[in-house]
Amino acid sequence: MSTKVAFLGLGIMGSGMAANLLKAGFPLAVYNRTAAKAQSLVSAGARLAATPAEAVQGASVVLSMLADDAASREIWLGKDGALAAADKGAILIESSTVSPAWIAELAGLAAQRGVQFLDAPVTGSRMQAQAGQLSFLVGGSEAALAAVTPVLRAMSKEVLHLGPVGSGAKLKLINNFLCGVQIASLAEALTWIERSGLDREKSLAFLNSAAPGSPLLGTISARMAARNYTVNFLLRLIVKDLQYAQNEAAQCGVDLTTAQTARKLFEDAVAKGFGDEDMAAVIEPLRNK
Ligand code: NAP
Repeated sequence: MSTKVAFLGLGIMGSGMAANLLKAGFPLAVYNRTAAKAQSLVSAGARLAATPAEAVQGASVVLSMLADDAASREIWLGKDGALAAADKGAILIESSTVSPAWIAELAGLAAQRGVQFLDAPVTGSRMQAQAGQLSFLVGGSEAALAAVTPVLRAMSKEVLHLGPVGSGAKLKLINNFLCGVQIASLAEALTWIERSGLDREKSLAFLNSAAPGSPLLGTISARMAARNYTVNFLLRLIVKDLQYAQNEAAQCGVDLTTAQTARKLFEDAVAKGFGDEDMAAVIEPLRNK
């Protein structure tokens, strides 16, 4: 396999995704702000770059998986940034959960440089990233997507083309809006169950198999019940997602009042020191009230 890939951002998601690219045989260069996180990938054969610009040299496909708009801006456009250094024939893929406004700006800058650009955020979490079982939600040209599909396939079970650039970012925010609201309501429901005298395990087993049940509620209710906040999805990142979702929906004249309420619960949890725990920890401030 000769397609050279550069991967920027080796956090919870990026490290699992990059490992699957190596497993699939892609020559891989990696960059992360905290270089120590690249150690296991380097041991498995990745080239560690000192800057984003160095990582993208010679790469035909460049993927980034970063926290938010600010991190993405820094890596693409900051000092020794990836955009200016990318090869003209490269295809750039932003997989972070970022705002459609930032995607539009970045796509415009990529077009000015004459390089192709896709937005391709993912659903699935730490385990799916490690197992190569993510879903990519893609916006951009069909031709660019066809060219990078073997790369995306190495990390995913599904590659969904949604339309022009920005389409992936939009659907991803709608997805996380629904997730955030469900988790916030689950935190309230479980706190209520725990104070009500009901048998918690029986109640959760029933609810998870009844109409409100969903893959998300099943997973998160188990973590909340066990108080297991090993990070799969950082609580502070869902605050960001809800905020981007509210801004984006407002562009369509939709006021996400439920996102606002959910976000307040997550923001309270951040203020109480749970921002770097798993998002299931949103229940803790409610339990302590
Ligand atoms: P994470 O573990 O916190 O990783 C964040 C990455 O962004 C790290 O590589 C971090 O570098 C980098 N970063 C943050 N701020 C930066 C800055 N100012 N300059 C340069 N680099 C910066 O988060 P994650 O869970 O992997 O999430 C990555 C993205 O995927 C986010 O947009 C998230 O919303 C999305 N996502 C997450 C999940 C999930 O379940 N975890 C699922 C789907 C999508 P350092 O290592 O140096 O901090």
